[in-house]
Amino acid sequence: MPSQTQRGYENMGKISVGASNPDAGSSKNYKTGDWRILRPEVDFEKCTKKCFFCYEFCPDSAVKQTPDGPKIDLKYCKGCGICAFECPKDAIKMEEEEK
Ligand code: SF4
Ligand code: SF4
Repeated sequence: MPSQTQRGYENMGKISVGASNPDAGSSKNYKTGDWRILRPEVDFEKCTKKCFFCYEFCPDSAVKQTPDGPKIDLKYCKGCGICAFECPKDAIKMEEEEK
């Protein structure tokens, strides 16, 4: 029978209760935009500048609401395309990221 060490139990004491994240707010330290291969481009001719479905659905909170429409923070946008999929005006196109 494997020992507790062989099963990996030696690290159990290092995991927080309920596997919760004790470092709240730390996600801003992780620049998820580094992963991006596609970049959302907003067509402001089509955008309503007020529905902000893109803001609501962005899983990385990378879309900010401004009076001029959505502003996408590319430091955190990972290029998933959910905003483009959800936009009711088809105002967001995913473009290949240039290296
Ligand atoms: S969801 Fe589309 S139309 Fe609505 S604010 Fe965002 S880009 Fe504009
Ligand atoms: S592509 Fe994904 S991460 Fe980037 S703004 Fe749209 S929903 Fe957010």
